[in-house]
Amino acid sequence: MITETQKTPLLAFNHVAHSFAVRRGLFGARSILTAVDDVSFELREGESLGLVGESGCGKSTLGRLACGLTIPSSGQVLFEGRPLPKAGANTWTAGRIQMIFQDPSSSLNPRLRVRTSVGEPLEAQNMPGAERQQKVEDMLNAVGLNGLGGRYPHEFSGGQRQRIAVARALVTHPDVIVCDEPVSCLDASVQAQTLNLLREAQERFHPAYLFISHDMAVVGFMCERILVMYLGQIVEEAARETLFGKPAHPYTRALFAAVPDGQKPGRLPPLLAGEPPSPLAPPTGCRFHPRCPNARELCRTKMPGWKNSASNQRVRCHFAD
Ligand code: SF4
Repeated sequence: MITETQKTPLLAFNHVAHSFAVRRGLFGARSILTAVDDVSFELREGESLGLVGESGCGKSTLGRLACGLTIPSSGQVLFEGRPLPKAGANTWTAGRIQMIFQDPSSSLNPRLRVRTSVGEPLEAQNMPGAERQQKVEDMLNAVGLNGLGGRYPHEFSGGQRQRIAVARALVTHPDVIVCDEPVSCLDASVQAQTLNLLREAQERFHPAYLFISHDMAVVGFMCERILVMYLGQIVEEAARETLFGKPAHPYTRALFAAVPDGQKPGRLPPLLAGEPPSPLAPPTGCRFHPRCPNARELCRTKMPGWKNSASNQRVRCHFAD
């Protein structure tokens, strides 16, 4: 029997960083923003890996790196052990890594009938028309939109548009789907339906998911293993049960504490009140130290390395013990 850790890593990040120049104001000086810094992890066949953190922490940049939409400044993204090429129709990875975006309205062409949009990834692979149409109809059927391929995106609700985006992502039977906040634009009731659809699709078609969300409850529902990201770095990785039962990094504990409490709607605990520091000027030492209740002098001067536990939990904190 093949165990989880023996499964082939489909996608591997090896010390990946991505930086770009930004200008402060219209005539301001150019600064370098490092959105992703020294990130390493593996995504295995058919698994669901969560990536959670506050908005602006670099999650979406990491998602684009995983699809080849962005090329790292340093380090390597490997797909089946080979460097992932920049995404394009003629690459050997075409159709094998797909992405579902937060807002389906902006990812679907409003002028195209739904069946044309869903069929585009197959057209890019030069699949003949009749075969393509059959696959598109099958996939629309699989997401509960049977017979609606002749309509335009504006004729659907937000939840239905996200179903169309799911069909478009699945139609090539990809190995990996990067889901970037796929339910955060939807009402709570539609969120649950969409998450169930994504789980059913994984059972049926077996893609691995890299599932990006700011919502701990959503990644807990969808993912077996979870990465926690803070200011461009992964600070904790653990199996869902371990992370939910015994979060080891102070930031992970703060995220759990920030899950809205029915009695105090909208209030965050003091730990996560306010904005995270700017990634243009990250703090020295441990990046979390200005907000960490456990910070000591060492945290201000030295960046923590990784500590691994027997339960395959790894934590980037000097005092995780
Ligand atoms: Fe807090 Fe220090 Fe650990 Fe950073 S290294 S999370 S500041 S205790």
